[in-house]
Amino acid sequence: MAKRDYYEVLGVERGASEAELKKAYRRLAMKYHPDRNPDDKEAEEKFKEANEAYEILTDANKRAAYDQYGHAGVDPNMGAGAGGFGGGNFSDIFGDVFGDIFGGGGRGRSSVQRGSDLRYTLELDLEEAVRGTTVTIKVPTLVGCKTCDGSGAKKGTKPTTCTTCGGHGQVRMQQGFFAVQQTCPRCHGTGQMISDPCRDCHGQGRVEETKTLSVKVPPGVDNGDRIRLAGEGEAGVNGGPTGDLYVVVSVREHRIFQRDGKNLYCEVPINFVEAALGGELEVPTLDGRVKLKIPEGTQTGKLFRLRGKGVVPVRGGAPGDLLCRVVLETPVNLTKRQRELLSELRDTLQAEGSNQTPRAKSWFEGVKNFFEDMKF
Ligand SMILES: [Zn+2]
Ligand SMILES: [Zn+2]
Repeated sequence: MAKRDYYEVLGVERGASEAELKKAYRRLAMKYHPDRNPDDKEAEEKFKEANEAYEILTDANKRAAYDQYGHAGVDPNMGAGAGGFGGGNFSDIFGDVFGDIFGGGGRGRSSVQRGSDLRYTLELDLEEAVRGTTVTIKVPTLVGCKTCDGSGAKKGTKPTTCTTCGGHGQVRMQQGFFAVQQTCPRCHGTGQMISDPCRDCHGQGRVEETKTLSVKVPPGVDNGDRIRLAGEGEAGVNGGPTGDLYVVVSVREHRIFQRDGKNLYCEVPINFVEAALGGELEVPTLDGRVKLKIPEGTQTGKLFRLRGKGVVPVRGGAPGDLLCRVVLETPVNLTKRQRELLSELRDTLQAEGSNQTPRAKSWFEGVKNFFEDMKF
């Protein structure tokens, strides 16, 4: 029987990331795990197949060879026990993927861990986002304990090698008919024991601290833009590198302007007399008021474009435009005099026929034709 493509086995794209491979493998391994499918030959085969595919594709060298030469490039019979149960490599993968399911919480065998990345949502006004700003933020995080220099051991003492796992951080457990590597329950994967823990960090090597940071926000940022502050995340474990802090921009709603990329929109209400006569309106922009000329006979909903009055994008380029939408407002609470004037206006409009309201004219004609075509 021909061997299936490894990517097909795992059900992932050829360019899949390690995280995607792991996720796919984990799903299959859970499904076809021999403990869950006793005496099921097919499940066992599938489990072996997924296992082999995962092992090859997560090894950069083997994956490259497989991508280039296919199965011939990574003959498992030549390799270190791929596809076979109980091989050293298999246990590694298993421990790594299932570590957090089987408890322990440790990640892999390495006791050195990179600190977590942090995410901070920064709320800004539209003006601040457009013009850029510098803000001070307070971020609760974990920093290396200064008392013990991050070792977790009391000053003057040193951590000792864990006697349960011999410093490996992992122990082998027999699960069903194959061995499982598990995070050492005694040292939680660090491979070290602290008999006399540091009092300030309780042996963790890290302490909580609220960092005060200054963030420079470049002009033009928009919702969802991220500013990375390298090395401002959580401290690493056992000398691991510090994580990063991602400041994510969230722009508050503005009372006048809506933003769409580099353009700004606003609505300008005018009454129908101004619209009929035309004239000059004062409209707001982020740089202050400007005059906008509207022609005679302006209809409701018309958009007027003010070039260059939008936003300069954060990645550079020409500024966007401000688009003002004119919305007609019907006057309310008329005085007696205004009623008289409007009645007079109505009479003159009627006398002129429908030439002054072309839209109403074509609409009425459409309605008329519609009823004629119906032929009751
Ligand atoms: Zn400490
Ligand atoms: Zn241990």
